[in-house]
Amino acid sequence: MAIAFRKVSVLGTGVLGSQIAFQTAFHGFDVTAYDIDDAAIDAARKRFGVLAETYQQEVDGADAGNTAATVDGITLTTELATAAEADLIIEAVPEVLSIKRDLYTELGSLAPERTVFATNSSTLLPSDIAEYTGRADRFLALHFANRVWKYNTAEVMGTQETDPAVFAAVVEFASNIGMVPIELHKEKAGYVLNSLLVPFLNSGIALAAGGYADPPAVDETWRIATGAPMGPFQILDVVGLTTPYNILRNGGDNEQQLADWLKTNYIDKGKLGAATGEGFYRYTD
Ligand code: NAD
Repeated sequence: MAIAFRKVSVLGTGVLGSQIAFQTAFHGFDVTAYDIDDAAIDAARKRFGVLAETYQQEVDGADAGNTAATVDGITLTTELATAAEADLIIEAVPEVLSIKRDLYTELGSLAPERTVFATNSSTLLPSDIAEYTGRADRFLALHFANRVWKYNTAEVMGTQETDPAVFAAVVEFASNIGMVPIELHKEKAGYVLNSLLVPFLNSGIALAAGGYADPPAVDETWRIATGAPMGPFQILDVVGLTTPYNILRNGGDNEQQLADWLKTNYIDKGKLGAATGEGFYRYTD
């Protein structure tokens, strides 16, 4: 029998978890969102309120009525056993291997056998976690991009142990909540998107840090010559400079030099990207 999901739980209600829960509920699924304590649940309520307004402005068909119904329809809980009663559980807790492994160990004993687990991890491979789930055949990665309602890719990546029927059901689910599912045939750190994006952004930084061309000239070249709407520095301003800086700092000598350049010229001057009003460009709103 084909696997179908109706009840969906999201673990972790931070930046991505709140968006995944909201998007899933907005598309009519029965959603429970779990976080560790009352303070995190209060923060989740605020995030859902902000998302309701954002959807009204940015999502076709969203209005005050259906976004309010979406918020009301999400059950918030600090009880993992409550969240475990689901057909599909999407995990979006901090990117710390020990936190994820501990959570899956507990979850594996609480959730019904049928329940499928999906991790939204950006940098870990599902095989780093699979054995802790107690159900490697019903576990895979389902990776969303920040601002899920707009940048709506959902990369689906299993391990060698993932049941193909589970993979297919998660692909269908992604499509049912308005995502464009991107299927990976085997595990790859960075999935498709970051395998392309990280080297691209680093090449842009290397051109500017090496004194070859200024950021606006690099961006202009890319835009005009390829028709793309944004060059690497415009993208970096949207992402924020801190995460790319941390990724570079963990690399070899060449990457370290690029990290130092970012730090001296931008991060130390408070130019962290569009969210702070200035990065490579200045933003007035
Ligand atoms: P975040 O720090 O904003 O949120 C994490 C949430 O998890 C918090 O609400 C925290 O209270 C909660 N949490 C902490 N420990 C927990 C536990 N044991 N059980 C349940 N909840 C717990 O993090 P985020 O940016 O939303 O990232 C979450 C996951 O999503 C990470 O794996 C990250 O790699 C991935 N991701 C993030 C982005 C992004 O742009 N932020 C994009 C794609 C994927």
